[in-house]
Amino acid sequence: MVERQLVRRGIRDETVLAAMRTVPRELFVPPEIQADAYRDDALPIASGQTISQPYIVARMTELLAPRAGMHVLEVGTGSGYQAAVLAAIGCDVVSIERHADLAEAARARLSELGLLRGVRIEVGDGSLGWPAAAPFEGIVVTAAAPSVPATLRSQLADGGRLVVPVGTPRSQELVGVMRLGNAFDERLFGGCVFVPLVGAEGFSAEEAPESGPESAGGGAPESAPESGPESADGGAPDDR
Ligand code: SAM
Repeated sequence: MVERQLVRRGIRDETVLAAMRTVPRELFVPPEIQADAYRDDALPIASGQTISQPYIVARMTELLAPRAGMHVLEVGTGSGYQAAVLAAIGCDVVSIERHADLAEAARARLSELGLLRGVRIEVGDGSLGWPAAAPFEGIVVTAAAPSVPATLRSQLADGGRLVVPVGTPRSQELVGVMRLGNAFDERLFGGCVFVPLVGAEGFSAEEAPESGPESAGGGAPESAPESGPESADGGAPDDR
């Protein structure tokens, strides 16, 4: 997975590649699809949500420029995989999930892997961030927002980076924001498709009903449209 899906597509940050070699992705998907865990795709998890495609996890993590000890907020815990990758790097992570059952299952997985020490998982509306633990040196939003949430921007530390997919519920652009004092430098990093961020600074549940990958038109959720066909095959769980 790391060579074919990440290195070949330009992921260069050794810290990120090493973490993604370490974290057993098969433990973050439902048992009946464990054989698909290393496929070049987002996969369904409970509550109609998804675990993101490996490439997009790597890309978003790389854009954060993560390092050991970095204080990071993740919005959208889902399976806990992204939080586990950040924890494997040594980041100090606060991760927020709106579905209590997903949060609970993610906590159990991380605990089993010995990664919960660096991760705090909370239930709530992550579009409003987590003021009690702000400011953050990095914020990664793993669900699609209609615009860059102003509250999340305000919770960035000086020099901090925010990565968030922004667009419609069906298609988005990956946006990177860097805070420099009171200025915010914004850059675009290509197209992607995520499940919606549902909350006060996200979409309303009516305008963006949550759905699993099987009902998402126009591409697999959390996929990178530029994915090459050579890496679109599946992989065995030992194919890290
Ligand atoms: N990062 C996850 C992983 O590694 O498995 C994948 C996240 S999944 C693509 C998006 C997640 O965002 C879903 O679990 C969804 O319930 C959650 N979500 C959506 N809106 C949210 C909100 N306002 N606050 C917190 N979580 C939210």
